[in-house]
Amino acid sequence: MAKEQTGQDATRLPHDQIEQIQLEGIKKTLVRCYENIPFYKKSFDDAGFDPYSFSDLSELSSAPFVTKQDLRDNYPYGMLAVPMSDVREIHMSSGTTGIATVGAYTNYDLDFWADCFARGIKFAGGGPDDIVQVAYGYGLFTGGLGAHYGAIHSGATVIPTSAGNTERQIRILRDMGSTILCCTPSYAMHIADTALEMGIDPAEEFHLRAGIHGAEPFSDNLRAELERKLNYKVLDIYGLTETGGPGVAVECLEQNGLHLAEDHFFAEIIDPSTGEVLPEGEWGELVITTVDREACPVVRYRTRDITRIIPGDCACGCTHRRIDRLHGRTDDMLIIRGVNVFPSQIEDVMKTFNQVSSWYQIEVDTDERSLDIVTLKAEVNPGFDIDSTGAIERLQRQISARMKTELSVGIKVRLVEPKSIQRSTGKAKRVIDKRRTIK
Ligand SMILES: [Zn+2]
Repeated sequence: MAKEQTGQDATRLPHDQIEQIQLEGIKKTLVRCYENIPFYKKSFDDAGFDPYSFSDLSELSSAPFVTKQDLRDNYPYGMLAVPMSDVREIHMSSGTTGIATVGAYTNYDLDFWADCFARGIKFAGGGPDDIVQVAYGYGLFTGGLGAHYGAIHSGATVIPTSAGNTERQIRILRDMGSTILCCTPSYAMHIADTALEMGIDPAEEFHLRAGIHGAEPFSDNLRAELERKLNYKVLDIYGLTETGGPGVAVECLEQNGLHLAEDHFFAEIIDPSTGEVLPEGEWGELVITTVDREACPVVRYRTRDITRIIPGDCACGCTHRRIDRLHGRTDDMLIIRGVNVFPSQIEDVMKTFNQVSSWYQIEVDTDERSLDIVTLKAEVNPGFDIDSTGAIERLQRQISARMKTELSVGIKVRLVEPKSIQRSTGKAKRVIDKRRTIK
């Protein structure tokens, strides 16, 4: 058999059946964590939580949380629930802010990870006739191999370009007829812009049907620009190393929220300050419990990502509940003179001005009175005359005024020449917070 399609469609199960899978899976997970991972034994005992008496999903809210710091404290193998002989693969978070967190996978974990990513490819209408170009970085980062395994699982052909070498990336997109592109949204934009500079119109000469873009939050306006430039549909994908990589939730073609893979992940939304579980529809911090992950199960992992469960059914027919598109992590959230604002919200307002490109950086500093000053440095689009002093100042004032109206924060705008902000093949560096650095 050349290419194989998977059997039963898990995305169409009746929701009560999904809840039964969750209950059975989490029952086992709690006991496995308690008996195999000293961290959970101590944390459950300290909280007076009995894993053996768990009999209803609602009881999970009395289990203690696990944080990224807990995972770091147990570096490298402290959170492993299986013997090393059962571990097939290991990934790690980038560790830019400290010790890396480790994600290990058994054969089973790799299989369902592939299945979860493949759901995104199938939501995009992809399958054996598709060519998936994976331009996420391969390596310890979960993006590259997650997309790779997902593409294979979906029955598609995979081209593992990895990130970088953008001109070759573009030639492959054009010559090989890639139909689905997997990479960060900012790298997709860089690919589109570079193609145009090379005299290749990606909307005409590429063959893309969809892009599955995750690993960083992006605004609806940036999505619209990508779709226009590359003539395809952009689907958002969510996941994190601590829960096994991309595929925890994936958007469908309705583009109205990301379907959780609820047969593998149980989601709660909590008030980040009190830890109380919030009702469906309310915004808060996403907390994930893995239903059946073997090597590195997590119980009530605080993702620090802010979203909500979208009430109601999706027109696509997938029965798994949806989370809303993410504004960003709680630690990306800027608190500017007491007002909470996410970089993606600033991007959204900025993108309503068609003279401005998608390349920007937000600089946060304090003035001599210790008040926060935020400066948005953004590139103008090629063709806009940056030397025309009056025009540039007028535009900067207009953008700043709209930020004030929409977001209630004062933001200074400094427009710069095209290509003066550094490009990234992975996650773009959007915020430079000088308040947190020692001067
Ligand atoms: Zn849907």
